[in-house]
Amino acid sequence: MTRKIAIYGKGGIGKSTTTQNTAAALSHFFDQKVMIHGCDPKADSTRLILGGKMQVTVLDTLREQGEDAVTLGRVCQTGYGGIRCVESGGPEPGVGCAGRGVITAINLMEELGGYSPELDIIFFDVLGDVVCGGFAMPVREGKAQEIYIVASGEMMALYAANNICRGMVKYAEQSGVRLGGIICNSRNVDGEKELLRDFCDQLGTRMIMFVPRDNIVQKAEFNRKTVAEFDETSGQAGAYRELASRILDTDGENLVIPQPMSMDELENLVVKYGLLD
Ligand code: ADP
Ligand code: MG
Repeated sequence: MTRKIAIYGKGGIGKSTTTQNTAAALSHFFDQKVMIHGCDPKADSTRLILGGKMQVTVLDTLREQGEDAVTLGRVCQTGYGGIRCVESGGPEPGVGCAGRGVITAINLMEELGGYSPELDIIFFDVLGDVVCGGFAMPVREGKAQEIYIVASGEMMALYAANNICRGMVKYAEQSGVRLGGIICNSRNVDGEKELLRDFCDQLGTRMIMFVPRDNIVQKAEFNRKTVAEFDETSGQAGAYRELASRILDTDGENLVIPQPMSMDELENLVVKYGLLD
């Protein structure tokens, strides 16, 4: 059965970078059939897989050419490692609701049979802190069964991760969605690994991977590639490979309903690690 995985986290934290690099590692090192469905209005969730090309988005096609024009041939491209790529896109700036667009795009892909059963893993790369029902939709309606949150040792990243957990708890019983872990995408904050471990303990989840911050990510990006494609022997490619392998090894024991922290608890944690001094 296809595993449907949503990657959440605050804007700029590294969701798209981590998703694409992990997807490339899954394909390159483990021969997995992978799809990425970008659910961020920025529509930059698949660029490294497609060699830098901006993809025609579902919502742009729908708006400009109507529903009949939205075909898999047009909105679904195949890139590095056979990875299938779709971008929801966004509404006209200042006009529509981006969250609503996420729902529309996922429903359309389902109708078109885009999430084909021979896929091993589908990633939804989803913006934000689940403040809006649209972005919560992959969780709410069980479109994804597993969530991984990208965070770092920065206050706002932890705050967002905790909020995402709050949103999850609301829907976990009815939709069956579970948290598989927190991915620490390092910002080289002092004591970051310990802080994230403590944070994960309090949420009742695990830090599935500590991904180092490394300039090779930018170098690869500059060459419009994921790290696995750019230099499969690099340490950073090894980190994404390890993350890929841990995702493959994830079983029921690691899939939990998190216990979000109160604001007081979160602040105490941050104070303990000296982020607020
Ligand atoms: P998001 O999708 O969460 O908005 P991105 O994946 O676009 O964030 O990441 C923003 C930028 O951070 C990327 O352009 C990338 O160059 C950089 N980045 C992300 N992860 C790493 C890392 N582990 N090491 C170095 N740079 C990174
Ligand atoms: Mg992104």
